[in-house]
Amino acid sequence: MPLDAEESPLSTRLGALNKQYETQSAPDILEKALTGFGRTALVSSFGADAVVLLHMVAGIAPQTPILFIDTMMLFPETLAYQRYLAQRLNLTNLRIIGPDQAYLACLDPSDSLHQRDPNACCALRKTKPLAKALLGFDSWITGRKRFQSTSRADLKIFESDDQNRFKINPLAGWIAKDLQAYRLRHDLPAHPLLAKGYPSIGCAPCTTSVQPGEEARAGRWRGVVKIECGIHFINGQAKPLSPPIEEKKEKA
Ligand code: SF4
Repeated sequence: MPLDAEESPLSTRLGALNKQYETQSAPDILEKALTGFGRTALVSSFGADAVVLLHMVAGIAPQTPILFIDTMMLFPETLAYQRYLAQRLNLTNLRIIGPDQAYLACLDPSDSLHQRDPNACCALRKTKPLAKALLGFDSWITGRKRFQSTSRADLKIFESDDQNRFKINPLAGWIAKDLQAYRLRHDLPAHPLLAKGYPSIGCAPCTTSVQPGEEARAGRWRGVVKIECGIHFINGQAKPLSPPIEEKKEKA
């Protein structure tokens, strides 16, 4: 058997966990995530659906570190929502991380790198700050869901990242209706841009609203061949990122 076809102990464990937890509830998965994988952080964008996972974590283990990446390019609505939720949910271990100021001044002094090279911009403002912040953790939790896009359709509940840390997606199987029902049941405020047609919310220059029938993430990097910021790796492999800017329609 070729080497790459052999199962590592990690992939065997991931397979067993995914089999065991696929039909379990998000709170049960989250409880396992918060107690069974060493030092764990929740990484939250405080975006369209973030309040659901934040509320669950606040109920199960309120001391959990919550990492929020302020890229310094976010919508003002996101920043206001983040401040409001931190207070409302009593998020006592919120850690706001962001780009290194010296690198920022050197590499993107005019805040225009996203126009020329969105991958470099995401690396500077998101991926590298998060990689640094995750150094002290054994595992992390994300709010990604399968329904958000074709590229996430096969999302597993348990994955590993490029550092062999566990990466856990308790809401992988949820759909928009589940999120809304949870918000209503717990009287949680929605992100203000959700009602304006933004079912997925990232940085302001790289996010548009979506039309009925479009995928939830269709407004992220619209017109550019880029689907993920680079934060998300699947079992050690980076999700595809963009070559130099190119129209999506040219690729089709
Ligand atoms: S989403 Fe856009 S502005 Fe934000 S870090 Fe990535 S390229 Fe830069």
